Amino acid sequence: MNLNNPEVWFVTGSQYLYGEETLRQVADHSQKMVEQLNATAGFPAKIVFKTVVKSSEEVANVCSAANSEPRCVGVVTWMHTFSPAKMWISGLKILHKPLCHFHTQFNREIPWSEIDMDFMNLNQSAHGDREFGHIVSRMRRPVKVVVGYWQEKPVQKRIDTWMRVAIAWADAQGMKIARFGDNMNNVAVTDGDKVEAEYRLGYHVDYYPVGDLVSYVQRVSKSDVEALVEEYDKSYEVAPEARRGGKDRVSVEEAARIELGLRALLSENGIKAFTTNFDALHGLHQLPGLAAQRLMAEGYGFGAEGDWKTAALLRTMKVMARGLEGGTSFMEDYTYNFKGEDSAILQAHMLEVCPSIAEGRPRLEVHPLGIGGKADPARLVFGTAPGSGIAATLVDMGSRFRMIVNDVEVVRTEAALPKLPVAHAFWKPMPNLEVGAHAWILAGGTHHTSFSQALTREFMEDYAEIAGIEMLSIDSQTTIRNFKNELKLNEVYYMLSKGF
Ligand code: MN
Repeated sequence: MNLNNPEVWFVTGSQYLYGEETLRQVADHSQKMVEQLNATAGFPAKIVFKTVVKSSEEVANVCSAANSEPRCVGVVTWMHTFSPAKMWISGLKILHKPLCHFHTQFNREIPWSEIDMDFMNLNQSAHGDREFGHIVSRMRRPVKVVVGYWQEKPVQKRIDTWMRVAIAWADAQGMKIARFGDNMNNVAVTDGDKVEAEYRLGYHVDYYPVGDLVSYVQRVSKSDVEALVEEYDKSYEVAPEARRGGKDRVSVEEAARIELGLRALLSENGIKAFTTNFDALHGLHQLPGLAAQRLMAEGYGFGAEGDWKTAALLRTMKVMARGLEGGTSFMEDYTYNFKGEDSAILQAHMLEVCPSIAEGRPRLEVHPLGIGGKADPARLVFGTAPGSGIAATLVDMGSRFRMIVNDVEVVRTEAALPKLPVAHAFWKPMPNLEVGAHAWILAGGTHHTSFSQALTREFMEDYAEIAGIEMLSIDSQTTIRNFKNELKLNEVYYMLSKGF
């Protein structure tokens, strides 16, 4: 996952009114804040203090420079003093990097016995940032506002979240997504407008005939296959039949060959996410299950049955989650367990679930698949540890993209699943299955999701804000009555704003 040393630019607003000495202190304080944040906050991007802007020209210059610097993934603004906001109009008009308005101040508390008018004039974020907020709101500019003292961890965490999303947004611009085969015939929710997706979200979706993949797979050497299979032996709990000399060993070797071919094709073509289709495997020995699992674990996005939107979203969520505790995987709502308030959904896919969410060491097994008409595929089998997470999806509503996010609570299955050798999770959607699934269905959400135990709803809200797309949350506060109203209101909002 090469993310090119991302930077976030820190721009402090002021004006000429206060004189040289005050402006010097404003710059000095900004510098100190940035240095300390870089040293202690553990942010995923380096913050670079650019300048104290005092005029329309200076704002426009720094915004234009931010646009053209590839390492700059976003801009943080802060008004230490008062910065008349008309001077921000021309710059904000052209800025197309994500914007975070950090509403903080340099000093934590008021120095009661010493405070005088000079101090007040220097430390006036409380009203300077309101002036800035007005123009951002007036311009309908997407923004994340973070309020609080800059040295406090919860405040830094909100900036951290936004930075992760900004990095993922940058990563998604021009993101190449390869579809091996088309979307599964007749399926509606996994399809969508690829032109609009490139325009709105940056996704570049290309079709690759499965024959292209086959030719890469055929070029894989025997010794490379052997080396990779040895790596499998070391990494996983290998079923006896899948070990050297076992009857399933040949399927494991073929899975390794597919992984090596697929890996070569993806990396040579700069592809970050891909889809497969069990109906389009001509020339392949088996459905690429193990390969999809292992490539996901490395940060590739994946969607089954040609689901390119989920593949792209998974990649984006993996970039957001990089270095955080908890895994992120492609997932599918499979089977219900109705039990009153404990009702939950068994989540799985035929094969392709990312081992980053595995509890314990995955088992490598080979079993028949039942559909697709190919040889028995190798797969990693595991369960998922209890804990909170999110399930997210992106759907095309015809006139706009809609993000739907459901808070979920992973729980233990009631017993082992000896006859279901697939990776799985078992979760309760919030606020409960009845309302959670009801709202999801009203919203038109997919059966496929991107599931993460590393991310929270806030990440997806920040993403939707940057992308300018609709965002629907299904969480502990959701009621069907309010949710229905939200759907109706959003319909009107997007119609009136001509937003997509
Ligand atoms: Mn599926």
